[in-house]
Amino acid sequence: MEDLRKTYHSWLRDAHAMEEQAETMLSGMLSRLENYPELSARIRDHIVETQGQAEALRRLLEERETSSSLMKDAIGKMTAMGQAMSGIFTSDEVVKGTMASYTFEHMEIAAYVVLIAAAEQLGDHAAIPVYERILAEERAMADWLAENAPETTRRFLLRDAADLQAKR
Ligand code: MG
Ligand code: FE
Repeated sequence: MEDLRKTYHSWLRDAHAMEEQAETMLSGMLSRLENYPELSARIRDHIVETQGQAEALRRLLEERETSSSLMKDAIGKMTAMGQAMSGIFTSDEVVKGTMASYTFEHMEIAAYVVLIAAAEQLGDHAAIPVYERILAEERAMADWLAENAPETTRRFLLRDAADLQAKR
């Protein structure tokens, strides 16, 4: 049971690191966007949500573990997937940024589905509403990106055809 709890807490730490990575990537993408105001506004909103998520997870970690274990993710441990995707996020292309964001949101969704199952199994009932709230925010962001990807793509292609500053 102790080992299981340690594993669960390591997943919680990973989720916290993931949210910090998310904030960095979203902020980078936002700073490069110039011609897609709706996308910029949605990203801005999600950055605020992401900061709240990181803070909520930090509080859960503090309540469950010593602060020294929190330090581990400050070093910047992140999944290989996150590392690979941050390259796409730095791309100038809004379409690739949309694809990377959509993918990243689904990695987040998977992480919270797993955390909810683990919390249920280990009896960490207090944490479940936190994970569920975050999960709903990630799903809403993923849905928004999917719904808006066609319009973003069309606008990108039109701007490209007009040889405007299409990329971002
Ligand atoms: Mg998030
Ligand atoms: Fe997210």
